[in-house]
Amino acid sequence: MEKYDLIIIGAGAAGLYSAACAPPDLRVLVLEKSPSPGRKLLLTGGGRCNLAHSGEPGELIDHYGWNGRFLRKAFHRFGIEQLTVLMARCGVKLYEDDSGRFYPVGDRAADVLSALLSLAGSSGVVIRCSMKVTGISEESEGFSVVTQDGAFSAGSVLITTGGRSYTITGSSGDGYDFAARLGHNIVPQRPALVPIHLQNHPFRGLPGIAFKGSICVPVPAGGTQCCRGEFLVTDKGLSGPAMLNISRHVLQGTVLKLELLGRDDFAVFQESVTAPGMKPELKTVLSRFLPGRLAASVLAMADCPPGLRAAETSRSRLEALHSLLTGMELTALGTGGYNEAFVTAGGIDLRQVNPATMESLLVPGVYFAGEVLDIDGDCGGYNLLAAFATASAAVSSIAKP
Ligand SMILES: Cc1cc2nc3c(=O)[nH]c(=O)nc-3n(C[C@H](O)[C@H](O)[C@H](O)COP(=O)(O)OP(=O)(O)OC[C@H]3O[C@@H](n4cnc5c(N)ncnc54)[C@H](O)[C@@H]3O)c2cc1C
Repeated sequence: MEKYDLIIIGAGAAGLYSAACAPPDLRVLVLEKSPSPGRKLLLTGGGRCNLAHSGEPGELIDHYGWNGRFLRKAFHRFGIEQLTVLMARCGVKLYEDDSGRFYPVGDRAADVLSALLSLAGSSGVVIRCSMKVTGISEESEGFSVVTQDGAFSAGSVLITTGGRSYTITGSSGDGYDFAARLGHNIVPQRPALVPIHLQNHPFRGLPGIAFKGSICVPVPAGGTQCCRGEFLVTDKGLSGPAMLNISRHVLQGTVLKLELLGRDDFAVFQESVTAPGMKPELKTVLSRFLPGRLAASVLAMADCPPGLRAAETSRSRLEALHSLLTGMELTALGTGGYNEAFVTAGGIDLRQVNPATMESLLVPGVYFAGEVLDIDGDCGGYNLLAAFATASAAVSSIAKP
């Protein structure tokens, strides 16, 4: 049986980052079930690869829901600086856009993939593709990693098999089974960063319309969680960054509150409508705040007939518009499936993983990194950042036994 110090299962973002950081004196094998590595990485950011987001560790962890605290230690040791230095070693420079998102100069995910592969290659890491791992068993010294083409022996195993979303890229939840068979608790999974399907979809006829606003949902711990940003109307409901970010809190029947106009904007709208001698149509006034077709749809919901003049708007119609524009209640029918979800929520129970080293607290020598952990981040580079940070934590502790 071939023997390695470390076997990494999965050549996605986390697996390849670990391979790229592996010290040359460590014998490392990466086993990847797809015919080529980094398939999902190539799709990220629409092919541009939004590979990180700026922020101090304390701010970053707020972008991963309740489990973000687990990442605190990893983010104290790993951030943009380390990522920038590593990428620069292969001539890939990074830039930050106005909203704090980081991309490779050239906007090509393929450059990031090539850099990781080249760094891994220069450290002597062996990557074998079309090698599906089917199980891991504990041996007297280390582990046996079983594939359909035979078994390999390893001192340590790093599971970076990803979640369940975009199965076509290779991530189909295999790592959860390996971890469960080694005795770990697996938090049930569900699609995250995923469009929401709505009951009585209020904008059904308007797919493709984009708008800005804010969405709030009640959360089990009490209170509400809100996201502000861009929305996109879909056939079945709403998508867009704000909706995707709130989706981790949405279940069938969840009541969401959509704010199309903030309090100040509504006050300006109301002033314009009630100003003496206001001749324009109500739709024209509302279209200063919302896309025209969306404005027409909201006016119809408030029973305002087409052609109604702003000055002729009754108090009751204005009140109806107030509740629709500042807190429209939407009920979730559910979310899109894993084929629409950018990431998977749930996974390896974080209570069984050391947050400084990513080593299992149950089975020493087994490590986890990336989306296989019960971590899911917001849109904006947070998921790749978490994959790299957990990979870096794991590989640096394996390298220094
Ligand atoms: C379309 C899309 C766009 C995205 N854009 C962004 C973005 O711009 N920024 C961002 O931060 N995040 C983005 N994400 C999320 C991000 O890509 C993931 O969070 C990240 O890739 C997770 O990395 P990972 O290594 O944990 O898993 P993956 O990248 O999914 O890699 C897991 C690997 O393990 C392999 N594997 C699985 N099972 C086995 C097995 N049994 N044997 C061997 N190999 C196995 C898989 O084939 C796969 O290659 C996007 C996701 C999608 C779907």
